[in-house]
Amino acid sequence: MSISKKTIIIFDNTYASLPEIFYQTINPSPVKDPKLIVFNKKLGKELGLNIKKDNNFYTEIFSGNTVPNGASPIAQRYAGHQFGNFVPQLGDGRAILLGEVITKNDNRFDIQLKGSGKTEFSRGGDGRSALGPVIREYLISEAMHILNIPTTRALSAVATGEQVYRETPLPGGILTRVARSHLRVGTFEYFASRQLSDELKIIADYAINRHYPKANESDNTYLSFLDLFAKKQASLIAKWMGVGFIHGVMNTDNTSISGETIDYGPCAFMDNYDPSTVFSSIDRHGRYAFGNQPQIAQWNLASLAGCLVPLIDNNEDKAKKSVSKIIDSFSEIVNSDISDVMCSKIGLNSKDKKSQESLKNLLTLMKNNEVDYTLAFHFLSDYLEHNNNTSFKLLFDDEVLIKEWLNRWMELINTRDKTKKNIVKSMKEMNPIYIPRNHLIERAIKAGVTDGDFSVMLNLSSVLEHPYTLQDIHPDYMNPPEPSERVLQTFCGT
Ligand code: AMP
Ligand code: MG
Repeated sequence: MSISKKTIIIFDNTYASLPEIFYQTINPSPVKDPKLIVFNKKLGKELGLNIKKDNNFYTEIFSGNTVPNGASPIAQRYAGHQFGNFVPQLGDGRAILLGEVITKNDNRFDIQLKGSGKTEFSRGGDGRSALGPVIREYLISEAMHILNIPTTRALSAVATGEQVYRETPLPGGILTRVARSHLRVGTFEYFASRQLSDELKIIADYAINRHYPKANESDNTYLSFLDLFAKKQASLIAKWMGVGFIHGVMNTDNTSISGETIDYGPCAFMDNYDPSTVFSSIDRHGRYAFGNQPQIAQWNLASLAGCLVPLIDNNEDKAKKSVSKIIDSFSEIVNSDISDVMCSKIGLNSKDKKSQESLKNLLTLMKNNEVDYTLAFHFLSDYLEHNNNTSFKLLFDDEVLIKEWLNRWMELINTRDKTKKNIVKSMKEMNPIYIPRNHLIERAIKAGVTDGDFSVMLNLSSVLEHPYTLQDIHPDYMNPPEPSERVLQTFCGT
């Protein structure tokens, strides 16, 4: 087979071969003067892309101006609960799935353009994306990946050379997103709410085969699917909590079936520890506050469970009983996952009651002293490594209380059957020094959007590639914002 010039991606599209009710067939709309801001070569290689082509070629493909050979562009149909209210018709209003690729390790990924023009799901929207949210998603999703948190990824960012109209005209952008799939809880809700039982079964089987093939080995495949999904969610949320990530819009249409973090809108990282932290301008009642995320994940799990009831058992009562068990046990699973993550951040074993108590006391002190979440854990690993390090203590105003806490914590560390060196090592692996802090992201966006200067974004991106090692760079990259730089609110991409 001769590979034509346009073959930089070898596609293997399964979603587009599902019945047409699942999507709209639609090409990206071309843009005027696209410029490639960044192409993620490492990810390109992982995906098996033919990356020898010159930049012009990427610009053509990732701006949507050229549809590569083998792509079957579609916009996916879904519904969803937004802030608790059911919206029966959503769908990719500003995203177009080009198709799927299979990596050397036999993993299947979607390649999707975000901001590539109108679809039938755009309703009043323009199908475009402003450049700011593209920069934000590129930086944050890649940082999450490096932090070992399941997430969609960013293959490229392009400036379109066109304006998009929000409250003011803004430069437009397109992000190429890579995901294990774009199936959402809302995809199930679309078909379940219309009682389209054949389609519901098709999408459930598709999801199981793509993400949870183990469920096929169970006596009750669909119940097992729900159970596996619940466990993936719990582990994901625990990882979010470990780094202070606040998704900001945990609607069911933004909850990926594969267990990846998806739809980076008004997401943010917490500076000072406070479970009630909210950044999103649209989250007026704090539904998606940092500390609420585990309960919201359970709420979203219940939405998926409701969809699966008819597939689980012909006897509705019996099916409801089985799903209730899974929903109820979620709290315990997610709390235990969070406890595992958090205890390992302080070098302790979560199975020991005393570790849990120590963690709880530390968090209380951190909250009362308005202590930076990331720095506290980083300096604690430093404290253990160098014994006399004062940086940790200096974070707290309550000198006496933190000294007392440290003494008791050291006693627990000393009872562990691991060497100090190993404890330090494992703590460092859990405690990043560099995270995509909101004010750093804002700086990168401002330079890109206002001055067309993407060097700030690219520098930040390379710092975030090595979050766990102290780098010889300006301490600004690790420090919390100055009061004047503090980001108080974040906004969606719309
Ligand atoms: P989100 O809040 O980004 O998860 O999006 C919710 C819904 O609004 C989805 O159906 C999106 O496709 C749609 N949407 C968001 N922004 C736009 C836009 N600029 N143009 C068209 N549809 C949009
Ligand atoms: Mg969304």
